[in-house]
Formats: sequence, structure tokens, C-alpha cells
Amino acid sequence: MTNVASTVTLNNGVAMPQFGLGVWKAKDGAEVVEAVKAAIAAGYRSIDTAAVYGNEAGVGQAIQESGVPREELFITTKVWNSEQGYETTLAAFEASLAKLGLDYVDLYLVHWPVKGKYKETWKALEKIYADGKARAIGVSNFHPHHLDDLLADAKVVPAVNQVELHPLLSQEELRRYCDEKKIYVEAWSPLMQGNLDLPVLQEIASRYGKTPAQVILRWHLQHNIIVIPKSVTPSRIQENADLFDFELNAEDLAKIDALNENRRFGADPDNFNF
Ligand code: NDP
Repeated sequence: MTNVASTVTLNNGVAMPQFGLGVWKAKDGAEVVEAVKAAIAAGYRSIDTAAVYGNEAGVGQAIQESGVPREELFITTKVWNSEQGYETTLAAFEASLAKLGLDYVDLYLVHWPVKGKYKETWKALEKIYADGKARAIGVSNFHPHHLDDLLADAKVVPAVNQVELHPLLSQEELRRYCDEKKIYVEAWSPLMQGNLDLPVLQEIASRYGKTPAQVILRWHLQHNIIVIPKSVTPSRIQENADLFDFELNAEDLAKIDALNENRRFGADPDNFNF
């Protein structure tokens, strides 16, 4: 973990940048195109999108216009809930590829554990993986009980579980579970959707000459978590990647760990209605 493009090794040997850009709520067209291009220019190599974000076409356009070779980038997308099931997922994957203008993705995820559907969906991801169209496959928003259920029949162990994870929801039990199963944890809403106004973070940030956002993202990196902060603001895209010239000490890591209150900004995977 020495620079913005540094990678971790997933359970199938694929290298994935530990840091990347999230693009949920970035509008398709100029907004997402400019954000992704600014990120790539700042050294980002990983982009996290999803079919439901409606901006895969813009992400694809930015990739093309970035001038960085495709194989140096790591592109994640996800199958949306309404498309879950075997055949529907295969079709959704092809639609995502077409929008992105790519012939493979680096990581394809089951976006949410839709009851009664996610196992069939996983079979489709295994087929996509076997066909070489996704370099790795994984899940998102899976609790340990969802993973236990999936693993009972899975041929491929998910490489990643992308979940909400930040100082107010540190997910220690899930992290332990995923470590045991060799599933990498990836944090969504790492910046608590912009709710950064916590005195403890301000105090730590001022001591390191950093911002609360940088302190939080550094906390993720030092806990060996993959992290994908979203911003469409060029200065913040730069700021969020400027994490490699300082290290939080053990005491400050523990202070941030102690902020946990199991507080979600998004839905609980046991209780979602979309
Ligand atoms: P984040 O926690 O990344 O926060 C994004 C918000 O914080 C935006 O409003 C952004 O504003 C603001 N922000 C960014 N950087 C800074 C900064 N340095 N200082 C102050 N404010 C800042 O939220 P997301 O929910 O977007 O999560 C990140 C990514 O995770 C998503 O984009 C998506 O890719 C993924 N995700 C996945 C989910 C899943 O179910 N798998 C669910 C939710 C997210 P602005 O853009 O205006 O600069």
C-alpha cells in the first residue's frame, strides 16, 4: 500500500487496486465522464459502477478517452436486483459490457442478496467467470448468513464482499468472517456519504495536517479494506487519493475503531425493499 494504484491479491490471484473511485449518483454524461477522467489522471486505476447507477456508458467513454490502456484499469460493475436469476443475469451482464464498451470486466458483483434468487444469480456469475468475461466475481451486501448459504453450493468462493463500512459501522464481525473465508472486504459509503463532521476525526486530522476524509480513508487502508470513495469534485478526487504520505498510529486507529455505533446510512441487507 504505497500509492494510489497499489494492489491487493484476491483469492484467485488477481491483483485489485486497494483504492478506487465510486460513481453512484454521478450523472451519466459529462458529470461521470469528467469525474472518471479526473480520477484516472490523478492516478486512480479502479472504478466502481453498477447497472443501476445508469452511468456505465459514461464510465466506458471516460475509459476510452483516458488514454490509459484498458489492462491497466480495474473495472467493477454489478447485476441489479430486478435482473437476478440465471438467464436474466447473463443477459444483464452482456448489457453492462455493451454499455461500458468492454469485452471483459475485472470484477462482477451480485449487488444485493435477493431472497430466493441470489444462488441462481451466482451460478450465472460462475459461468461468466469460467468464460473469462470477468477476471473475478463477488458479492455485495452479504451478511455472514447469506455467505454461509451461498458457499454451501458455490463452486467459486466470492473474491470480494462489498459492504457499507466506515467508522460508524466498522463491521468487525463481518471482517473476521470474510478473513477466515479469504473473501476481501470492500467498503462502500466509506465517507459516510459526506457526513464527516465528527470531533474525533477533526482532532486527529488536524494533528496529521490532513482532512477528516483522508483520515477515514487511511483508516480503511490500514485495516486492509478495499475502499472506493465517490466524488465528482476534482479537488476532492485529488484529496481523497492523497493518503500515502502519512500513517495513523495504533492509538489513533483505536480511537476511530471506538466510534462504531453500528449505524447505517444505507439499507440493512436483511431488510431492503428494492
Ligand atoms: P461516500 O461515502 O463515498 O461519500 C460520497 C459523498 O461525499 C459525496 O456527496 C461527495 O460529494 C462527498 N465527498 C467526497 N469526498 C469528500 C471530501 N474529501 N470531503 C467532503 N466531502 C466529500 O458515498 P457513496 O455512497 O457514494 O459510496 C462510495 C461508492 O460505493 C459509491 O459511489 C458506489 O460506487 C459504492 N456503493 C455501493 C453500494 C452497494 O450496494 N454495493 C451502495 C452505495 C455505494 P461530491 O461528489 O459532491 O464531491
